[in-house]
Amino acid sequence: MVPLDSYFATNLRGKHTPSLSAILNVVAQNLFGHSTRTWCNANLRSYKLFWEEMMTEGGRTPSTRDTKLHHNFPTDLRTARQSIQIEPDVVKYAACPACCNIYPPKKSGKVMEWPTECVWRRFPHSQPCGEPLVKSAIEGGESVRVPICPFEVQDFDSFIGRLLCRPGYEKILDEGTVFSLQPDELTDIKDGSAIHDMKGPDGKPFLDGFKRNELRLAWSLSVDWFNPFHNKQAGKSASCGSIAMLLLNLPPSLRNKPENVLGGVGHCFAWQGTRPCVNCSSLCPNFILTELTL
Ligand SMILES: [Zn+2]
Repeated sequence: MVPLDSYFATNLRGKHTPSLSAILNVVAQNLFGHSTRTWCNANLRSYKLFWEEMMTEGGRTPSTRDTKLHHNFPTDLRTARQSIQIEPDVVKYAACPACCNIYPPKKSGKVMEWPTECVWRRFPHSQPCGEPLVKSAIEGGESVRVPICPFEVQDFDSFIGRLLCRPGYEKILDEGTVFSLQPDELTDIKDGSAIHDMKGPDGKPFLDGFKRNELRLAWSLSVDWFNPFHNKQAGKSASCGSIAMLLLNLPPSLRNKPENVLGGVGHCFAWQGTRPCVNCSSLCPNFILTELTL
């Protein structure tokens, strides 16, 4: 059994209205007004200070409930976004700067840990790559080890879970497995021969309308790596890039919405020539064709 409660939209009705409206205001400034995290944090702190002044005005002693609510009010934008559950679940991999192999984190208490060096072997009897994967950094005042080349990608199961739990989306995704009724008329990219003629593991058409009692999802994958400092002869050389996936079951009007795009971002400050700094092949098999039995 997969716990689904966290995938459904948060019920905000039971929340403390003044703190909720302050959080929504700051999150909206960030999302729609493109206010930076620094300014949003300053706003949250000023809300908290203002609230404290109001509670203790004229020497009043605030109730235990008010004190607790005030104590839990966030002063960081990331915590504010988490409190209304709009942060995606993200996995930070460590990518090897030399061979591009990737390593998922392991949780040790509250801290994430990655292997210190790459153990990938080109052949079974070859020497391991041995390239360092982590470096020292300070997070929250504590010394920790972080990836030299981080690659952050949304958790696939969590992304799909949230998508399917959004009202109406299951029906939309089902309808997305139906092709255009006019064989000579292409109304969407999925009506083209590449998707139309694609076969499933059983050798039958992968997308076949409602002939099976399972949902089938077809994705398009985009991988693009580039030098963020521009390609100047005398300039810095670095590699940074994104991996994004669009769900072709969705109609074009919904397909490119930010909440419906599965994304990953990686960067590395050691130039890898023409190679991307992440071995995509270790991520893709889970992604490209997905079958979910309902
Ligand atoms: Zn390596």
